[in-house]
Amino acid sequence: MRLFPVFGDQLSHDLASLRQLDPGTGDAVVMMEVMEEATYVPHHPRKIALIFSAMRHFAAELEARGVAVRYVTLDAPDNGGSFFAEVQRAAAELGAEEIVATWPGEYRVLADLRSWEADLGLPVHILEDDRFLCPHADFKRWAEGRKQLRMEFFYRDMRRRTGLLMDGDQPVGEQWNFDADNRRKMPAAETPPAALSFAPDATTQAVLALVQERFAGHFGSLEGFDFPVNRAQALAGLADFIERRLPAFGDFQDAMRRPRGEAGDDSLYHSLLGTSLNLGLLGPMEVCAAAEAAFAAGKAPLNAVEGFIRQIIGWREFVRGIYWLTMPGYADRNTFRADRPLPDFFWTGETDMACVRHAVEQTRDRAYAHHIQRLMVTGNLALIAGLDPIEVNRWYLSVYADAFEWVQLPNTHGMVLHADGGYLGSKPYAASGKYIDRMSDYCKGCRFDVKDSTGPDACPLNALYWHFLMENEDRLAGNPRMGLVYRSLAKFSPERRAELRAKAAATLGVWGIAEDAPSDAGSVPADKQMELSA
Ligand code: FAD
Ligand code: SF4
Repeated sequence: MRLFPVFGDQLSHDLASLRQLDPGTGDAVVMMEVMEEATYVPHHPRKIALIFSAMRHFAAELEARGVAVRYVTLDAPDNGGSFFAEVQRAAAELGAEEIVATWPGEYRVLADLRSWEADLGLPVHILEDDRFLCPHADFKRWAEGRKQLRMEFFYRDMRRRTGLLMDGDQPVGEQWNFDADNRRKMPAAETPPAALSFAPDATTQAVLALVQERFAGHFGSLEGFDFPVNRAQALAGLADFIERRLPAFGDFQDAMRRPRGEAGDDSLYHSLLGTSLNLGLLGPMEVCAAAEAAFAAGKAPLNAVEGFIRQIIGWREFVRGIYWLTMPGYADRNTFRADRPLPDFFWTGETDMACVRHAVEQTRDRAYAHHIQRLMVTGNLALIAGLDPIEVNRWYLSVYADAFEWVQLPNTHGMVLHADGGYLGSKPYAASGKYIDRMSDYCKGCRFDVKDSTGPDACPLNALYWHFLMENEDRLAGNPRMGLVYRSLAKFSPERRAELRAKAAATLGVWGIAEDAPSDAGSVPADKQMELSA
């Protein structure tokens, strides 16, 4: 008898391990809601509810296909609390002779799985997760010998590999990347359509009650829970995106907007497909094929379709490759030696900064913020305020419903904080309030003045931005992509520099996180970072 553990982000009927399962031979699946997973960071209650509900729906689908499923609910009286405890019990009670699993989404779980063979005294087979398009070995081969990894080159290889938007060996439209067309500010008259909303069925309602009871202390609200929780709903969400939002996805990909009380406020033209992709309810190729078909049918322009496909076969596969190439150790590096704690407003939303308040409140209410909010609002603030990467990573992993470490960590630690020393991105995305003003209407509704840097009502991001550049001048001034900005800084008088420093220090003081010079803690030699574990 073989036992097949299926984790909460492995809800795909064509999962590598499930393809090996033979219902006729006594094989069984074990699925487990356990406290250890729900609390190793304080996950948003909406995220916990989404995963448990999607797991319960998936278990029912497996059973309907004749698969034996041992499903352990969180409130089962004898719940062992961890994957290992439950697998050990299932193996003993069912008389398992082997464990067959698919490669998990987090290094922590992989390490756990690898210890089971010795601890259970049973063979444990871990199969590659081929729901992703770039196998570990291929990414390793691609990365070998490169000092820095750049997504754009990886992406072109992935276009050739998948054939998406290809005309023979040339990109459709004679250009690989249409990003330059995708930076429009959203006009006031633009009204993004509301995304589909999925009313909780009885299964989801039972989970919501359980999560409300057990995780009421976690940051985040369950009210209005409407995530897709099974494949049929995920497919409906995909069709809705392709038809109603994909055509403008490219144009407004980088836009942000103040909430106006309209249903499309939170996601604008973004797809909202992240949770379904990461749980396995949708596959990356089917999602890209749907976008490509919309282009072929003349229903969506090339800049939108190329931009969307690049997120999936480019960024998504790229960050996963980096994660497995560099773990463990990726998260230990702290290039800027940033060590300030997270200000309270990351958890309360209580700040006069209109841009940050919206991002945090929306995150609390929806467990969702779109990419530019994550990157250029909360992320940029974390970077230029010198916040401790450990705390920042923990926040991002906790608060977003689509957050699994393989995708969250490289995005936060590498793309946002540049804490990996530029392994993932060639320069930090540091920005002042000017960027937010250019890409949104937040500043019009903010008590701070985005045009001022040092006065009493100055936008706090401005002085923090220059302060960050001054604090890290020795590390960044030589970066060719930072040349322009450091040439501007060079023109500042010593008095101007001092004013900016004082304003930044005062802001950090108001937030309760000012302290002495950052320490060396967290710096790990570079040669330790890139060890291959996969
Ligand atoms: P869309 O904007 O519609 O994009 C379509 C899809 O492309 C997404 O669903 C996602 O699957 C993929 N995608 C887009 N950008 C990225 C990216 N940078 N990396 C990987 N995939 C991408 N994404 C997660 O799935 N989980 C996370 O935990 C996560 N944490 C992030 C943390 C930070 C600091 C940043 C800057 C980005 C993070 N992202 C994460 C990437 C991106 O912000 C989300 O995938 C996206 O906002 C999800 O919303 P959507 O489905 O509407 O995406
Ligand atoms: Fe954000 Fe500054 Fe604009 Fe206020 S003024 S919304 S803090 S960028």
